Amino acid sequence: MASSVYAGQVHKLGPDLYAYISSNDSSANSTFLVSNAGILVVDTGLNEVEGRKLRAEIRKISAAPVRWIVNTHYHPDHRGGNSVFGQDATVISTLYTRDHVEPVYPQNLTVHSTLTLFLGAHRVEIYHPGPAHTMGDLVVYFPDQQTVATGDLFLTNSCPAMDQGDMENWIAALEHILALPVQHVVPGHFELATKVDLGRFHDYLSELGKQVREMRATGMPMKQVRKSISLPQFSHFRQFPQYEATFADNAETYYGQLLARRK
Ligand SMILES: [Zn+2]
Repeated sequence: MASSVYAGQVHKLGPDLYAYISSNDSSANSTFLVSNAGILVVDTGLNEVEGRKLRAEIRKISAAPVRWIVNTHYHPDHRGGNSVFGQDATVISTLYTRDHVEPVYPQNLTVHSTLTLFLGAHRVEIYHPGPAHTMGDLVVYFPDQQTVATGDLFLTNSCPAMDQGDMENWIAALEHILALPVQHVVPGHFELATKVDLGRFHDYLSELGKQVREMRATGMPMKQVRKSISLPQFSHFRQFPQYEATFADNAETYYGQLLARRK
């Protein structure tokens, strides 16, 4: 997780829409939609240093005020740059995310299910897919640009960090995205992706889940499940120690979810 003094790379994805792919793997990617009336930013990076890098790139494209910040979830690497955009921006998150953030933002709009914004000529669809990476994720879909900003519901070619979410619902949330018209996928971390990459990540979680369920059904203890999980077709995925977790860690998290469900 090397930190970096370099700014991230900006990619134009469609009319008025840009991805900011962070040069620091520890800091989340961002997506921003510009209009004369204001700019909407999805996730702001790890801290003020990263937030300022993002803001500098946005300012190369537009001088309009940032009026909306979507925080896809409460993890600090997705919201640490919020303060750079001032007190006037409205932070959009789930109530769960708001409850897990200190201090509370002066203007915080919470989304229970779905929120559609009309910004300039474009539509922005923000929705909570249910428990997935955390209990309070948001996904942002830009239908005009056929782009989705997934937060940490998807990391390109990487096994994910898992919080107190729900892996089966997470898989369902990915299937929902795969059914949408999508050209560009802005992942929570790492390189800009396509539906093919998202599908591969979906297949990783599905296959992991299947193996863990089968092992669990035979009464295999968790320690043995960790050792027995075998996913050579995903061996190119980023894992610990360079990154957050391993396949065994993901298996253990899901195993824990299965055990908790029996209570
Ligand atoms: Zn996260």
